[in-house]
Amino acid sequence: MSRNKIPLIDRATRHADRTAIIVEKERFNYTQLLDASSRVAAALLEGCNDLVEKRVAFLTPANFAYAATQWGIWRAGGIAVPLCVNHPPPEWDYVINDCSASVVVAHPQFAPLLRPIAKARKLRFLLSTEACDTPGCELPQVEPARRAMIVYTSGTTGKPKGVVTTHQNITAQIHSLIEPWGWTPDDQILLVLPLHHVHGIINVVACALWAGAACEMMPQFEAQAVWNRICEGGLTLFMAVPIIYAKLADAWQAAPADRQKLMSDSCRTIRLMLSGSAALPVTTLETWRSISGHTLLERYGMTEIGMAISNPLVGERVPGHIGSPLPSVDIRLIGEDGNPVIDESAGEIQVRGPSVFIEYWNRPEETGSSFVDGWFKTGDVAIRKDNIYRILGRRSVDIIKTGGEKVSAIEVEEVLRTHDAIDECAVVGLPDAEWGQRVGAAVVLKTGRHLALDELRTWAREQLAIDKVPSRLIVTAELPRNAMGKVTKPQVVKLFADCSL
Ligand code: AMP
Repeated sequence: MSRNKIPLIDRATRHADRTAIIVEKERFNYTQLLDASSRVAAALLEGCNDLVEKRVAFLTPANFAYAATQWGIWRAGGIAVPLCVNHPPPEWDYVINDCSASVVVAHPQFAPLLRPIAKARKLRFLLSTEACDTPGCELPQVEPARRAMIVYTSGTTGKPKGVVTTHQNITAQIHSLIEPWGWTPDDQILLVLPLHHVHGIINVVACALWAGAACEMMPQFEAQAVWNRICEGGLTLFMAVPIIYAKLADAWQAAPADRQKLMSDSCRTIRLMLSGSAALPVTTLETWRSISGHTLLERYGMTEIGMAISNPLVGERVPGHIGSPLPSVDIRLIGEDGNPVIDESAGEIQVRGPSVFIEYWNRPEETGSSFVDGWFKTGDVAIRKDNIYRILGRRSVDIIKTGGEKVSAIEVEEVLRTHDAIDECAVVGLPDAEWGQRVGAAVVLKTGRHLALDELRTWAREQLAIDKVPSRLIVTAELPRNAMGKVTKPQVVKLFADCSL
């Protein structure tokens, strides 16, 4: 029935009876995933031959329906656009509109909020449960060079941009990790990460399914639930952002001594624990090592490139460092003068190779300006010694990394400016040991108005994803600006530092 050429899906037949997905102890094998995804594909095709790269936005919690829907979209020849379960409706609407989705698929729990959006935009709306029940049909041949996925990521220009990857890109992103991290069919990984971001989509779910391993999905991260699961045993791999390790460490500290011993002993039965998506503070690495016996394997990657630089599976993992380029990824550092760095000075990380995305959706100019001679400019600055890299920070001060999520300061400013008490504002990332960075807002209020942080947060939560909601607020008479009238962000950061003295 299937004539796909999608490597990830083609491989699944050889793992037929093995467990692919586990959700709340219920196991689904690869045959069931193939069957459910062919039904989703049939529901999407509705009698036509091929979706020919139509965008299908989908929203389901981390469960079997998520995997079946993602594969179903691919098998029907569509582009999968995952929405974030924690976002408020305006953020979903933005993505659906920006990618010009033709169809919206939702798990029934999201239908009351998502159906009206689809209806207002006159789009087809489909429940994931209905889709999984549709009888199968002949499926199109999907060439690997076709577009497969659009993941939205915050950029310097404000609103999130859609990062487009092909099946070839996705295959290369998976491939780059299978051997270096020693994936085997006997692995069992616990997913606690969101599924609208490469970390969860590629590093956890896609790699597990490629390997013929089992991916056990938790709908969301909750420290006690994760510890309970680790203590049950049977997991071989765990991946998370630094803040998750910090929260797990807090929960360990709060546990009684006999429970702590069980927690620590259980960690030792896991073969590999990894951290990424934000800098791993050395203090977190050390605390985690003393709790779990694991030196976290830190790696570096980005939505646009998949993973690029990683500490080794075997060999020394240097705390505070991201390791060396993965075998299939070309990396160069470009200095301020525009030339490749050959000594130990700082340069921008630029990446080339089959895992690099093809374009920002519908943004040819931004796509063009983010490449130079075929190299993708990451905007991250690093230094290198003995081929081991250390990240220094982002070139652009306007991208804030908080708890592993990227937030555009410009986008938050646009929204804050719509508050009726705010006249002007500047949003910055403030250094924070736990979150990497926190979102801080310096605001100038309209005459006679007052604004407290709680009030601002309650209001902002209705407009923005929680990661983007400022957690620090300063009210100031004026914003620091340069001669050109542009707000000088480093001085805004200093305002916060001065305030906390
Ligand atoms: P995203 O596209 O959301 O995955 O964010 C990618 C960005 O996260 C990179 O450009 C880096 O700024 C940051 N990042 C990812 N991994 C690391 C790491 N190990 N250390 C420091 N920053 C990281």
